[in-house]
Amino acid sequence: MNNTNEMTVSFSSNAQNEGFARMVVASFIAGTNPTLEEVSDVKTAVSEAVTNSIIHGYREKKGQVRINASVTGRKIYIEVIDEGEGIADVKKAMEPMYTSRPEEERSGMGFSFMEAFMDKIKVESGLGSGTTVKMWKEIGTAGRQFE
Ligand code: ATP
Ligand code: MG
Repeated sequence: MNNTNEMTVSFSSNAQNEGFARMVVASFIAGTNPTLEEVSDVKTAVSEAVTNSIIHGYREKKGQVRINASVTGRKIYIEVIDEGEGIADVKKAMEPMYTSRPEEERSGMGFSFMEAFMDKIKVESGLGSGTTVKMWKEIGTAGRQFE
């Protein structure tokens, strides 16, 4: 039987909370018995999404970033939600190396990393309506041949 375990956490849009977000998610998914690499993948994806909410969503303004996560068996589902300014053209924003802030030496690879490290991601956003990044990953589907 697979019961679903769920959690929600909400925190201020301070850069110092990126580490908190990474840790809380890593801790939450521990029960899926991930490899170190799988934990690292999930932490990186969460950290990219949270950084985007803080830097692009809220900019200098204060707001709340929310993470909803669930684990069902070894299937992980994570949402990173902000109520910031939103993205006008999601398709364009998700292209590798696209950044709206090249002057800050951003590489525009955040969404590409999320896609590479998770099984699937989906971005829902619109100008003025905030951004929700949904991410899925099943633990144990790769990288176990050396165990
Ligand atoms: P990097 O992540 O490599 O530092 P980046 O943040 O610009 O650079 P992505 O993370 O791929 O690159 O995001 C691409 C673009 O999508 C951003 O430049 C920004 O314009 C937009 N964007 C991403 N997330 C959000 C968000 N939560 N709110 C508003 N805009 C966003
Ligand atoms: Mg980014």
